Amino acid sequence: MGFGYFYGIDMTYIVLVLPAVVFALIMQSRVASVFSKYSAYGISPGMTGAEVARRMLSAFGIYDVAIERVQGNLTDHFDPKKKVIRLSDSVYDSASVAAAGVAAHECGHAMQYQVGYGPIKLRNAIIPACRIGSSLSVPMILLGFLFSTQYLVNLGIVFFALATVFQLITLPVEFNASRRALVTLESSHILSEKENAAAKKVLSAAAMTYVAALAVSLMQLLRLILIFGGRGRRNN
Ligand SMILES: [Zn+2]
Repeated sequence: MGFGYFYGIDMTYIVLVLPAVVFALIMQSRVASVFSKYSAYGISPGMTGAEVARRMLSAFGIYDVAIERVQGNLTDHFDPKKKVIRLSDSVYDSASVAAAGVAAHECGHAMQYQVGYGPIKLRNAIIPACRIGSSLSVPMILLGFLFSTQYLVNLGIVFFALATVFQLITLPVEFNASRRALVTLESSHILSEKENAAAKKVLSAAAMTYVAALAVSLMQLLRLILIFGGRGRRNN
């Protein structure tokens, strides 16, 4: 294990992981700028994000989900255990296209639970395994590498792959929540056609951050396989 080995690590990082990380950073800054742009774009009925969420939930026939305020920026989420939609300050009180889009998206998640949408059930089912997987994978790979135990290395890589699968299942869940949101915003006349097109830009920018997170995870997985995966075969 000499200089060449470390050089190899650097090269796989630079060629595979770094471009994905840069892509993710660009997508994150893009969603922030698109959100702030459309936060200044008022909606005609003058409803705040919280009011949009309330109206969307009634449109879905959901009456047991509360709407609360949460601190932070772009921290909006749906908590399925407590049945609460939490909207950040810039969404809760804002009567803008951006706020309406984000609030409606979280209602889209509530609706996914209501109708028993398959991918969200699958995602929840694998969350515990993914949590364990992502916290144990790197220590396992390093221990396996240290003690030349390829079995442990491979198990670590499989554990890492679990976290990547989670990111993959997140994609249809997020895209579907946005689709439900946009359809309902338009059909319930909360937004005009033009406002809806603007809300779609906000939600598409947000969805790209999940695509980028998957890309980072996939590239990290590929890197682990390239560095550690073939070692056993070469040594035998
Ligand atoms: Zn979401």
